[in-house]
Amino acid sequence: MQLTKSEALFAEAQRLMPGGVNSPVRSFRAVTGTPPFIASGSGSRVVDVDGNEYIDYLGSWGPLVLGHAHPSVVAALMRAAENGTSFGAPVEQEVELARLITGALPSIESLRLVNSGTEACMSAIRLARAFTGRDKIIKFAGNYHGHADGLLVRAGSGGLTHGIPTSAGVPESYASETLVADFNDLDSVEQLFNSYPNAIAGIIVEPVAGNMGVVGPTPGFLEGLRRVTAHDGAMLIFDEVITGFRVGAGGAQGLYGIMPDITTLGKIIGGGLPVGCYGGRREIMERVAPLGDMYQAGTLSGNPLAVSAGVATLTELRKPGVYEQIDRLATRLTDGVGAAFRINRVGSMFTGFFNPGPVESLAEVEQSDATKYGRYFHALLERGVYIAPSQFEAGFVSTAHTEADIDATIERVREALAELG
Ligand code: PMP
Repeated sequence: MQLTKSEALFAEAQRLMPGGVNSPVRSFRAVTGTPPFIASGSGSRVVDVDGNEYIDYLGSWGPLVLGHAHPSVVAALMRAAENGTSFGAPVEQEVELARLITGALPSIESLRLVNSGTEACMSAIRLARAFTGRDKIIKFAGNYHGHADGLLVRAGSGGLTHGIPTSAGVPESYASETLVADFNDLDSVEQLFNSYPNAIAGIIVEPVAGNMGVVGPTPGFLEGLRRVTAHDGAMLIFDEVITGFRVGAGGAQGLYGIMPDITTLGKIIGGGLPVGCYGGRREIMERVAPLGDMYQAGTLSGNPLAVSAGVATLTELRKPGVYEQIDRLATRLTDGVGAAFRINRVGSMFTGFFNPGPVESLAEVEQSDATKYGRYFHALLERGVYIAPSQFEAGFVSTAHTEADIDATIERVREALAELG
C-alpha cells in the first residue's frame, strides 16, 4: 500500500498542528504509522489521497449511520447551503430536528442544540448542578464525555489510548468535584452516595460504554443507577452521544427501558455535521436561559446546515427495518470473526478485544493486548479495512454496508489474524 501523498501531508501537518491532527484519536500514535488522509467517502467506502480504498467501520467515530455522502443528506445540505449558512436567528429545521428527537426519546420533553458532544455533556452537568444545587458529580473510569475540564478525569477514548486519562491543566479543586466509580459496579456507586449524602448533583454514564471499547451494561446496572439517583435526589444523565439513534430508535434508554433525567446526544443527530444536544424533563430544562438562571449559548447552535443534515438522517432512520438491517449486518460480522477473538457488540457497535476472557469492566478492558491490536489494525488497513486506530474505541456498521462488504471483511480479518499468529 502506497501512502506517498499522505506521508508528505502528515509531515507538513506535524509542523503545523500538535501531532499533525485536530483530534488526538486520529493521530495513529498508539498504533504507529501514517494516517491516510481521506479524500472522499461514498457509502461504506472511503478513499485516501493516494487512491487506496477502504471498507470503513470508523463511520467518522459514529455519526455516519447512513454511510458516507448519503444522497438524502447531501441533497438537504445543498438546499440549506443555497439558502444561507448561518443567521444567528431561529430557523424551521431546528424545530423539525427537535420534534424528531423528542418524538423518539420520551425522556426528552425539551432540548437545547449545541455544536458538539463535549458542549452537550458540559452543559448537562451544569444543568444538573443548577437544578439540584449540589456540586459533585459521579462519572465512570473509562467513560468519555468530551473534553470539558471536570470530565477529563479518568476518561476513556484518547485519554485511555494515549495514557493521559486525567488531563494536565485541570485544577485540582475542579477535579475534586468529580467522583469516579467503576462501570458495571453498582457497589462503587453506592459507596460514593454513602460518603457524600445530599452532595452529588448527578451521575453521568455512557449506558453502553463505547470509549473503552464497547462494554454493555450488565443486568441490573442501569436500573441500579436509576434507583440510587432517585433515592438521593440526584440527576441521572445518560450520555447517548454514541448510542442515541445507534442502538435503536429510542437509544440505549429505549433498549434497556430506563428513563434518565437528562440525556446528551451528538454524532448521528448531526448527520456528520457538528451538532450536540442536551435535553430532559420540562421542569429541568426550564432552568436554562432565557427561561432560567443556568446560562448556556452558542453563535452557531442550531446552524441550518448542521440541523438539515440531522433532520435528513433521522428521517431516513424512521424507515421500517433500518435498525434490524444494521444489527443483522453487525451480527453477521461479529459471528463471522467471533471464533477468533473476543467481541463485544450492542446493536451495530462493536469492539474486538485481544483478551481471552469476558470484557465487562475497565480492568478487563485493560487486560487486552493493545500492542497486538496495533499490529492487527495495520494488517487490516493493508487489506483495505478501516477500523479505529485504538483498542479502546468502537466500530460501527452503517446502512450502506452490504452483505458482500461484511463477507469480504470477515475474510480479511481471518487473514489478518492468521498473519499475527
Ligand atoms: N460523549 C461520548 C459518549 C462520546 O463518544 C464523545 C465523542 N467521542 C463525546 C461525548 C464528545 O463528543 P465531541 O467529540 O463531539 O465533543
